[in-house]
Amino acid sequence: MIQDISPFKYHVEYENRKPEKEDFVLPFSREGLALRDTEEIAFFSCREFEEKTEQMVYLFSVDAMRFFYLPVSDETEVDACVGSGHRIIKRQELRRLAPKHFAFVAVTAFQLDGWYRTNKFCGRCGNTLFHDTKERMLLCPACDHRVYPRINPAVIVAVTNGSRLLLTKYRGRAYTNYALVAGFSEIGESFEDTVRREVMEEAGLSVKNIRYYGSQPWAFADNLLAGYFCEVDGSDEIRMDEEELSEACWLEREDIPVEYTDSSLTNEMICAFKNRQNEQS
Ligand SMILES: [Zn+2]
Repeated sequence: MIQDISPFKYHVEYENRKPEKEDFVLPFSREGLALRDTEEIAFFSCREFEEKTEQMVYLFSVDAMRFFYLPVSDETEVDACVGSGHRIIKRQELRRLAPKHFAFVAVTAFQLDGWYRTNKFCGRCGNTLFHDTKERMLLCPACDHRVYPRINPAVIVAVTNGSRLLLTKYRGRAYTNYALVAGFSEIGESFEDTVRREVMEEAGLSVKNIRYYGSQPWAFADNLLAGYFCEVDGSDEIRMDEEELSEACWLEREDIPVEYTDSSLTNEMICAFKNRQNEQS
């Protein structure tokens, strides 16, 4: 999955660091992330944006590589620092960067870019928020309101029915491959409650034997996804939510089309069912 970058190690602990010349900087504008325009993916070094050092914010490290965030208004601001030797990677393309640990760096930085960009003012009193120096937090000096990075918990659910798996397709989305039942947790719910509610809402099915599979940070909707397997309980007649889905069906294990792209939890769970790796020993 996208966060599996072994043997590299992700260090998210906040440190009140100042950029050094050899550190990396990720300049984000509304258009996307500016990268060096070379065949190989190359992040810019802080040296190349030296006059913007004051605006850089420490993000995280991977092994000994330290990454800093730099908000820029648009491409011309990048041009002014590094000339035309750069390219802009749009949000949807970030997860396809190579090597893989750079894709993880880019999407994780993208999530933090979204958080910084949408939290400039205090939601309680309207004052300008400041970057705290002890933790990754934005602080209102007037009313002490504290804003932490937003993480939305959500579930991915593989509902099984003997040798068949419940697969769905979203209505009106660019993503047209088969997916699993998925949805955000609501306030007051446990993950297991969310699993039962989402399967009922999307497919009209009751489930039992809910088992945790694994989790994944998913930057594109600020999610922390929790994957669960469960079994249909009682009738297996699907009553599909026509507003959200264009298709919901039971597919036999051998009929499941799997294009293995090792970045998403959904894909990994579908593969696990197809290859019988989800079965309890
Ligand atoms: Zn305030």
